[in-house]
Amino acid sequence: MRPLWKCPKCSREFANRNQEHSCGKYSVEDFLDGKTQKAIAIYRAFEELVFGLGSVRLAPAKTRVGFQARMIFAAVNRLSSDKLQAHVVLARRLESPRFTKIETISARNHVHHFVIESVDQLDDEVLAWLQEAYRVGLQQHLQSDSSPGFD
Ligand SMILES: [Zn+2]
Repeated sequence: MRPLWKCPKCSREFANRNQEHSCGKYSVEDFLDGKTQKAIAIYRAFEELVFGLGSVRLAPAKTRVGFQARMIFAAVNRLSSDKLQAHVVLARRLESPRFTKIETISARNHVHHFVIESVDQLDDEVLAWLQEAYRVGLQQHLQSDSSPGFD
């Protein structure tokens, strides 16, 4: 497996050389700024679940926060006053009534969107999605095909 490419400007590392990203301009603190206590509590609980998977880097962008192993495998896309909107990237299409949208990018790249409205909803099913996505993020699912990165 190729070593990660390191951005010379912000030192973030990516599986794909010259990966487009927001170059260290944004932070989770900026993302959480002005959010409600409830929203922040859901975000922090989600983050804790993600960090429990293994080695994960934060990849904050202007309007969202990505979670990266070799590649970004999950992201919080929106945090409103009472809910968190997120996605996981899976190598297969997984059916669950909890997914609000599934975007198929390629045969091995399916973006599954979901909404979390309370800390209680971060249950074993969500953990299982994250665990599967984390393996995708580590690129353990790849044979010889390459997938585009997410940022
Ligand atoms: Zn950079």
